Amino acid sequence: MCARLVLDRHSQPREKMEEVPLKAVPEFQDVQLRDEGIVILWKGGHRSIFPHRYLRLRCQCAHCVEEWTGRPMLDPDSVPPDIKALDYMEVGRYALQFLWSDGHYTGIYTLEQLRRWCTCLECQEKGGEAASSL
Ligand SMILES: [Zn+2]
Ligand SMILES: [Zn+2]
Repeated sequence: MCARLVLDRHSQPREKMEEVPLKAVPEFQDVQLRDEGIVILWKGGHRSIFPHRYLRLRCQCAHCVEEWTGRPMLDPDSVPPDIKALDYMEVGRYALQFLWSDGHYTGIYTLEQLRRWCTCLECQEKGGEAASSL
């Protein structure tokens, strides 16, 4: 059987991969698109619920964030309050891509970002990024 999983990042030289243990990339067990939000069940049992609009506003794609400066270009007022993720797909083993109800789909959310943005009380108390930027 396959001895090891190698991340599908063609730009990374092989030697680089050796330095980054695979366990540094958070792994998920399940993703559920629910009315109340996007639920991600992580390996190890942690559960994150993201309000749909919260993740839509954090889209990092070239339409929403200026590529070179990182300047936000997405006007939050242009995102409907009832925006929803209609579908999702896995990008390699390291990210998720969502199809939003406003037709937007180009954003790639790495598992590392999603894990860091967890809005649950436990993670906020640990001083996650979500806590400081809300
Ligand atoms: Zn975007
Ligand atoms: Zn959490």
